[in-house]
Amino acid sequence: MSLSLIAKSIKPSPTLALNEKFAILKEKGDPVIHLGGGEPKTRIPMEAMMATVSHVNTGEVRYAPADGIPALKQAIIRYTEEFYDRKVSPRHIIASGGAKQALMVALQAILNPQEEVVFPAPYWVSYPDMAKLVGAIPVPALPEDGTFYPTIKDIEDRIGSYTKAVIINSPNNPTGVMYSEEFIADVVQLCEKKDIWLIMDDIYHRLIFDGKKIINPYKYAKKLDENSKMIIINGVSKQYAMTGFRIGWAVGNKKIIEAMSSIQGHQTSGPSVLLQKAAVGALNGIQSSVESLRTTLENNRNVMVDLLKSFEGVKVTKPDGTFYCFADFSAYNKKSNELSNFLIDKVQVLTVPGAEFGLEGHLRISYCGTIKDIQEGVERMKWALDPNSPNELYIGDRKLVRDWS
Ligand code: PMP
Repeated sequence: MSLSLIAKSIKPSPTLALNEKFAILKEKGDPVIHLGGGEPKTRIPMEAMMATVSHVNTGEVRYAPADGIPALKQAIIRYTEEFYDRKVSPRHIIASGGAKQALMVALQAILNPQEEVVFPAPYWVSYPDMAKLVGAIPVPALPEDGTFYPTIKDIEDRIGSYTKAVIINSPNNPTGVMYSEEFIADVVQLCEKKDIWLIMDDIYHRLIFDGKKIINPYKYAKKLDENSKMIIINGVSKQYAMTGFRIGWAVGNKKIIEAMSSIQGHQTSGPSVLLQKAAVGALNGIQSSVESLRTTLENNRNVMVDLLKSFEGVKVTKPDGTFYCFADFSAYNKKSNELSNFLIDKVQVLTVPGAEFGLEGHLRISYCGTIKDIQEGVERMKWALDPNSPNELYIGDRKLVRDWS
């Protein structure tokens, strides 16, 4: 079959593939534990539920404007004022089918084929493929000092004459680390100096721990007018546990938002009005669910980090936010795909191989599930990997016997 060059260059999303694998194993009745997930398991806010139901009850569910309904734009204006201390107008905002689509239409509006987009590694799995989808070239910047914290030099060294944009995601998927305020300030200024786009993927910015404060990148911008090349991406998926609603947004200058809206208008039209109403409910409703999710995740993070620290040979960087931990398992196996498959086959624990995020020898382990799953999942991993483990392990009434060394 003759597929396009772009189609041939794209891999399926490994995290979505893992969700499918989990569903299949679960359906078979296997005692599988999903530590590869990317979504909180808490209930959605009541206001989101009510807003959806009351709109369905009108019996009229029609097309929405390509760039989002006015009520959602108003809620995003308020959010931008609260978290970014910035007054914007509806023309600075586009609501999309998840932060994913907001990012995708931003890249489509910015990049020409063969131009480059720079982002720190480890990176969110979709950035390289999103760049390839527009014919552009992804340029990951792995910190030279071996940490998960890039320096401004790591970024600057990757910027060349073909670079059109930088993407920064902090707190970061997959490492959970939050970049320093100084680094964010430096990136904002570097991109202004080089006159390139800066896309801030802030999807996890409220899910941060240890009393850390949300960083506002606008604070460091010198050019905050209609020529500003900063685009802020955010959404309801993570903070309100509304992944299935598929509502995200971008805030940028009027020209870029207009271009993104034209692209989105032809691509999918506006996101479903029902789901936009739900997002309005969540954004304008009582915010206690966000804080409750944040504290649950902080507690889960503590449990996960303690368990991994007691795991001989595993190195872990304590996450500052999100619900991911990116642990170094290279003492056991440098090939993360092999290791991840081994853990599924032997003890039915799902993790995401570090290679998918641009760093071998690591596994991304999520702590968005229950404490029981975190504890049992890591215990099973330990049993499978530690050669001094007892020969047998019981999962419920199933007996597993080591047939490997
Ligand atoms: N950016 C990052 C860093 C993410 O981890 C995700 C979701 N996994 C997204 C964007 C996309 O979020 P949404 O569900 O809003 O499309």
